[in-house]
Amino acid sequence: MPGEPNKIIIIGGGLAGLICSILLNRAGFEVVLVERKTYPFHRVCGEYISNEVLPFLKSLDIDPFALHASSINKLAISSSSGTVFQTQLDLGGFGLSRYTFDNFLYQKAKAEGVSFACGIKANSITFQDDQFEVSLSDNSTLTSHFVISAHGKRSNLDKDRDFFQRRSPYLGVKYHIKTDFPVDLVQLDNFEGGYCGTVKIENGRFNLCYLIENRHLKKYGSIEEMERQVLFQNPRLKERFLSADFLNEKPEVINEISFAKKPLVEKHILYCGDAAGMISPLCGNGMAMAIHSAKVLSDTIIEFQNNRELLEQTYCAKWNQLFKNRLWVGRLTQQLFGGRNVSAFAVKLLNRMPPLSKYIMKSTHGNPF
Ligand SMILES: Cc1cc2nc3c(=O)[nH]c(=O)nc-3n(C[C@H](O)[C@H](O)[C@H](O)COP(=O)(O)OP(=O)(O)OC[C@H]3O[C@@H](n4cnc5c(N)ncnc54)[C@H](O)[C@@H]3O)c2cc1C
Repeated sequence: MPGEPNKIIIIGGGLAGLICSILLNRAGFEVVLVERKTYPFHRVCGEYISNEVLPFLKSLDIDPFALHASSINKLAISSSSGTVFQTQLDLGGFGLSRYTFDNFLYQKAKAEGVSFACGIKANSITFQDDQFEVSLSDNSTLTSHFVISAHGKRSNLDKDRDFFQRRSPYLGVKYHIKTDFPVDLVQLDNFEGGYCGTVKIENGRFNLCYLIENRHLKKYGSIEEMERQVLFQNPRLKERFLSADFLNEKPEVINEISFAKKPLVEKHILYCGDAAGMISPLCGNGMAMAIHSAKVLSDTIIEFQNNRELLEQTYCAKWNQLFKNRLWVGRLTQQLFGGRNVSAFAVKLLNRMPPLSKYIMKSTHGNPF
């Protein structure tokens, strides 16, 4: 094969990119990971991770509990008016900040020999004569035989992808707080146009993260006023916001969160994690999917590195088999929450039919891998 058959460029150092970098470096590829930020850094995320990832993390010698993750085995959902449904989680999960988790994986990947270009943005990717050229924001270029784009929900690199043109109504906001809250519970509190999650993470802190329709921000002009006018209509959220000790100067905020379908491979670029498809945060397993899709993609590259066409076909087939239905149920579940009447109905229904919650969880979560 022409070019550098052993070289892989990974764009984006979230969970998907970092896990690919570790697996492919271990398999003998020369891996360069480009991440526009510098570690450690905060990002908008509910920071509840499904336990389905634990066996795989263990196989990589990664123990989230050594990083002081909390162990979560209960779920509560409140409607906009504050009525609650609570259940035991079959599989459960753990709470760990992305600040700690991503930085740990970055340090591990670096120590194992992955090359990093941090604080540098990939501006464009071209493919010619069976080789990629990636232009970077420091005016340099990288070439390689494979490119994995694990650039997350939305990036400058998406501007030629179909879904980018469609506006998305959602905004995400995250805080770290200290508060009096059960240590083994993940709670989702609904309000008009969104929902807010609370879960314990490491070092006695809690994650408070919400997804909201951005029309509210347009209407109320500031995050603070929007929270007062919209989130505080749920009495549980009002109480939590007013009694918490907020640990960051200002929240992390992201706009234009899209759950649209995306191609998994385009112009031979292999997409992974949220860049391949994002599940509603309501389901609480986008991170598990990012990690799992990174494993599937890396295994496929290792197996079919000498046949690009077969590699691309096999990756798409495996991805669809594992994740397509989960995304579909996730999109459907997203419709059940956020509206005042709809969330009240959903909580009532779940209280009357507890097996329904088990069905939704089973359909949106994978098996341990
Ligand atoms: C509000 C909200 C709450 C959520 N809560 C949860 C939850 O509780 N549990 C859960 O499992 N999932 C949750 N998710 C989903 C989860 O955050 C994502 O599924 C997960 O982060 C995907 O990982 P990733 O590696 O694909 O992308 P990311 O973690 O987003 O990483 C992408 C990386 O690419 C970098 N990048 C982008 N463009 C470029 C470029 N051009 N050049 C270089 N670098 C670039 C970015 O800086 C970023 O570091 C939530 C999402 C939202 C929006």
